[in-house]
Amino acid sequence: MAKKQMRAAVIGAGMSGLVAARELRRERHQVVVFERSNDVGGTWLYDPRVESDPLGLDPGRDVVHASMYQSLRTNLPRQIMGFSDYPFLKKGSGDSRNFPGHEEVLRFLRGFAEDFGLVELIRFRHEVVRVEQAIEGRRDLWAVEWRTRGGEEAAGMDVFEAVVVCNGKHTQPKIAEFPGRSTWPREQLHSHNYRVPEPYKDKIVLIIGREIARAEDDGKLVFQDGSSLYADVIIHCTGDKQTYSFLQYSYHFPFLKTKGLISVDNNRVGPLYKHVFPPCLAPRLSFICIPYLAFPAQPSELQSKWAAKVLSGEVVLPSEEEMMSSVQEHYQRVEELGWPKHHTHRLEIGKCEYEKWLVDQVGLPSLEQYREKMARIGLELWKYVQSSDENWRDTWDGDKWMQEEGFGKQIS
Ligand code: FAD
Repeated sequence: MAKKQMRAAVIGAGMSGLVAARELRRERHQVVVFERSNDVGGTWLYDPRVESDPLGLDPGRDVVHASMYQSLRTNLPRQIMGFSDYPFLKKGSGDSRNFPGHEEVLRFLRGFAEDFGLVELIRFRHEVVRVEQAIEGRRDLWAVEWRTRGGEEAAGMDVFEAVVVCNGKHTQPKIAEFPGRSTWPREQLHSHNYRVPEPYKDKIVLIIGREIARAEDDGKLVFQDGSSLYADVIIHCTGDKQTYSFLQYSYHFPFLKTKGLISVDNNRVGPLYKHVFPPCLAPRLSFICIPYLAFPAQPSELQSKWAAKVLSGEVVLPSEEEMMSSVQEHYQRVEELGWPKHHTHRLEIGKCEYEKWLVDQVGLPSLEQYREKMARIGLELWKYVQSSDENWRDTWDGDKWMQEEGFGKQIS
């Protein structure tokens, strides 16, 4: 059977949007990538600006996309941040550390975009402001409305046969709520707007997840155990022990108009079959990189391959009813595990299982060896991190371990 070739829009040119564009094009779809900034890289495109509302509460604020601070180094080794056929290798003049600074990740993503000829697919400075069915009730045509940002102002609308959403999940801050929060007279920001330490020199800075009992008008902060202090600044860092930093942010799709068919409820994006396809709109609408607590490059690559092959007709999805019951089963499992709703897209326990499932879908057995190798490296790293000191990134002998694993050999 001839493969279908679709005109597909990808929203975002971060790591997920780039790999989605590559996989869609490999399946011979016509791809347009909309990117609101002037470069690729998404999160890894460090922006020294902070938002006008440092807590990110004002919906009208000018959004700064990246939640990146200046001195950030990766918390995963480069060996598990690459793609199956495009490893994140050490290169001569760059940052050769196993856990490099953010600039090196940006160089890697720029290289990926250039080497696969993706740059020509991207409309930079194009912000997508609306995605909606072009004709009500028809799920096969999508209107994508955009406006330019910076430079000459323009706006327009294009119609696509498919839309792949890759707009990232670390931009919309989630703050801690406690009595007196909104009237506390001193400085508060979300970690999204933290860039450099200098403004906080000699100040008392309190970094919080939740636990303040109340804030008082004279600057006093009272904790749940009754103790108190006066602070100059509160930085909201609202991840928790189980999800680390991931749930400091909310999934946010302000452009998506689906009349309630897809919603974000307490960080559950749903319903989504296998975290990618909304059953009632599949396969023409899909989401890449929704899950967290995985090494992001791997599920994003696998999800992208899967979505591209489903659109071309090479891989067939189950019926809408079957997809919906799979979603319900997943919700049930989340409940049985005792996870709150906002952990719906957490992989962790099911991580390997989920990626294995994706490998089976895309029908590329060679990827299974790669996936297993990455899982072994991840496990090794995790054991090391737990038993090590705060300099673990510099003391981990990743190179030796990587040689044993044959890292750097590309798979076809
Ligand atoms: P993003 O990188 O966020 O890209 C989304 C893109 O969509 C952006 O370019 C944005 O401009 C664009 N966009 C958004 N809305 C629109 C719109 N309406 N119209 C047009 N374009 C739009 N991962 C690791 O593997 N290793 C690490 O060490 C690591 N450290 C991290 C540290 C921090 C502080 C953070 C926040 C994340 C970290 N991550 C790490 C995870 C990181 O998010 C992923 O590596 C990866 O960047 C996710 O890519 P993405 O494409 O899904 O999203």
